[in-house]
Amino acid sequence: MTAAFDENAVLTALKGALPAGLSSTGLHEPRFSGNEWKYVKECLDTGWVSSVGRFVDRLEADLAAYTGVRRAVAVVNGTAALHICLKLSGVEPGDEVIVPALTFVATANAVTYCGAVPHFVDSDYLTLGIDPLKFGDYLKGAAQVTDAGCVNRKTGRRIRAVVPVHTFGHPVDIDALSEVCGRFRLVLIEDAAESLGSFYKGRHTGNVGRISALSFNGNKIVTTGGGGAILTNDDELGRLAKHITTTARVPHKWAISHDMVGYNYRMPNINAALGCAQLESLPDFIEKKRILAERYRLAFEGVSGVSFFTEPEFARSNYWLNVLLLDKAHAGSRDALIEMTNAVGMATRPAWTLMPRLPMFADCPRADLSTAEALESRLINIPSSAILGEERAQA
Ligand SMILES: *Cc1c(COP(=O)(O)O)cnc(C)c1O
Repeated sequence: MTAAFDENAVLTALKGALPAGLSSTGLHEPRFSGNEWKYVKECLDTGWVSSVGRFVDRLEADLAAYTGVRRAVAVVNGTAALHICLKLSGVEPGDEVIVPALTFVATANAVTYCGAVPHFVDSDYLTLGIDPLKFGDYLKGAAQVTDAGCVNRKTGRRIRAVVPVHTFGHPVDIDALSEVCGRFRLVLIEDAAESLGSFYKGRHTGNVGRISALSFNGNKIVTTGGGGAILTNDDELGRLAKHITTTARVPHKWAISHDMVGYNYRMPNINAALGCAQLESLPDFIEKKRILAERYRLAFEGVSGVSFFTEPEFARSNYWLNVLLLDKAHAGSRDALIEMTNAVGMATRPAWTLMPRLPMFADCPRADLSTAEALESRLINIPSSAILGEERAQA
């Protein structure tokens, strides 16, 4: 049985959920309505724009307080944060690291920066992230726990870590994944780049893994222009993360010396100033984004052939990028819908091309990816800016 599918009904529902009189909208636009101007101006007025200044320390403290982790380290972007998370988790050249096939390219790129090989696994319809049951079953056949750790039976390489992504802001089932990691002696690293403000069973995302990465790119829920952070509950790891991202300089009154190969990944003070102001607005952004998501949910309730993706029951999501899923029978309408909405000024786009389809990852090991492939063919991201959830003017 295939219900009639009407692309115009989808367009009407989309318009109905958005504020009236809107002439066009991006997918996710930043909003600067708080202390951004004031804090950035303070950097310019005092001359503290770069590697020294009070906002980096404050942003790190504010992030730790908000997420409930012991230590946050601000860095230049989310990809650099992931790179350091992997490096400090002992990922070495020749290792494999488990990554979802459905993710932004940075997750897999960071693995490659360590000389390691991404190994792609499937997604779950419930969370859009790694399917923990399917992953655990797959490892039973594909890997073997030895004295050297978890080893891929086929390639002979050590599988060192797993990097789940909280896709589009929706928390993955991290407890179930954590159990699989324990069984197979894998380090759990959370790619929480999209999930600042998302909670799993009351805990902020990024709080369960040994170490986690956030992003403050221009399209994320809060932005520092470009930026990211490393989160960890391990004090020693936190200290090391700060050290290695700040050129591994040995503290001294005037001598300039370094005790290892470090990275210049420190977030500049002027970006941190923007971040401090944005973080003050985060609760408001989340409230507005959840209002928008609820409007979408209601608007698409009666539209056949599509469904609006809602948070898993164990989660409270930030709804970073809203997701529309076409029924299997209507996957063929995806591109037409994307064309149609963009033509009327409503930014939409498909999910990322699956990682193993990209030329540089074409030869990487992978599990069965049938769910990720189905999601890729059926998923459309729809306008998600916080401002779209503000009170609508009375008609
Ligand atoms: C944005 C993003 C990153 C990388 O963040 P940048 O700050 O752009 O480097 C990593 N992983 C995921 C899933 C992302 O969405």
